[in-house]
Amino acid sequence: MHFETRCVHVGVNKDETYNSVTTPIYPTSTFSWDGIGKTRGYDYTRSGNPTRRALEENLISLEGGLDCRATCTGMSAITAVLHLFQPGDHIIAGHDIYGGTYRLFDALFTQMGLKFSFVDMGKLENVQNAVTPQTKCIWIETPSNPLLNLVDIAGVTAIAKKAGAISICDNTFMSPYFQRPLELGCDIVLHSMTKYLNGHSDVVAGCVITKDKVHADKVSYIVNALGLACSPFDAWLVLRGVKTLGPRMEAHQRGAMALAQFLQKHPKVSHVYYPGLPDHPQYALAKAQMSGFGAMLSFDVKGGRAVAEQVMLKAKFFSMAESLGGVESLIEHPNTMSHMSMTDEARKAAGITDNTLRVSVGIEHPDDLVADMKQALEG
Ligand SMILES: *Cc1c(COP(=O)(O)O)cnc(C)c1O
Repeated sequence: MHFETRCVHVGVNKDETYNSVTTPIYPTSTFSWDGIGKTRGYDYTRSGNPTRRALEENLISLEGGLDCRATCTGMSAITAVLHLFQPGDHIIAGHDIYGGTYRLFDALFTQMGLKFSFVDMGKLENVQNAVTPQTKCIWIETPSNPLLNLVDIAGVTAIAKKAGAISICDNTFMSPYFQRPLELGCDIVLHSMTKYLNGHSDVVAGCVITKDKVHADKVSYIVNALGLACSPFDAWLVLRGVKTLGPRMEAHQRGAMALAQFLQKHPKVSHVYYPGLPDHPQYALAKAQMSGFGAMLSFDVKGGRAVAEQVMLKAKFFSMAESLGGVESLIEHPNTMSHMSMTDEARKAAGITDNTLRVSVGIEHPDDLVADMKQALEG
């Protein structure tokens, strides 16, 4: 089965009583037993639920993993995998990772005794140089947020393997349609399903996909013990969303490419960050490890915060909002919105300025998006 076909069919058929074509929602907290030691596969919804399992089976197939746990947010997926580690363990991560991940690592998990190094992972030697005897994990997020820097997934996983560490990839920005980290050597992949996997801006959810039994069992145990699983209703919505992942990603990308090419030529724009532009410094890596370029892009306007705000407020089809990956286009100011949870120094080091705007390109017609952005810039 091809990818698009798996999106539609894998895991879906769960109704043997009436043969419904879509997966039923099982909104039950508990399941009755047929006798001591005898269940029909489920006993309590925190631990497992047929609707959630349908989604998990689908995601296992899309990422090419062994097992999956669907969680109530992307942050809870990250929280779950961080519980694989113990006080004293060292984790290397990019200096420009998702703001909420940075906050979780830098504040809460540091307090619990984990050690982090945040480095510019665009250069493999920086990753290699950060390795210590305590390094247990290298955290990959690519492309990064908001400046769309790439991390060489195969290169980093090779460093991790040599160091006796595992590699974990946050694949939210590309979705498995454009990038499959497990195939490039990663041990664990996770998503904020709030974004492209669900794709309709109406759910917050996450998932963790593992490729070996040891990690699968540990992650299942942790998700159950911490109570991180997502509700059957949310799982059902994401399962509905994921069926159109392929066609949506193609439409997202068409709009992003048109907008990036337009912005690049506009006199009020000083820089465009989009891995699909041949002058992106890692264009060759993008072509090698991704099968498309996605639909997240950022750009710097000339004129600072006032001009950035004008563009956000004048754009009609781009709502001024955080988040990404939905069918509707969004625009935001990382310095004061999505990346507020980073320290000033960390934002500066990552290259985020008051001129920077980040766009999540939806699936509207590219011509409408370009025309709207033109009037917003020229306002
Ligand atoms: C949104 C996001 C998260 C957090 O996901 P939530 O669903 O908001 O908890 C983590 N990583 C990346 C890359 C994200 O974009």
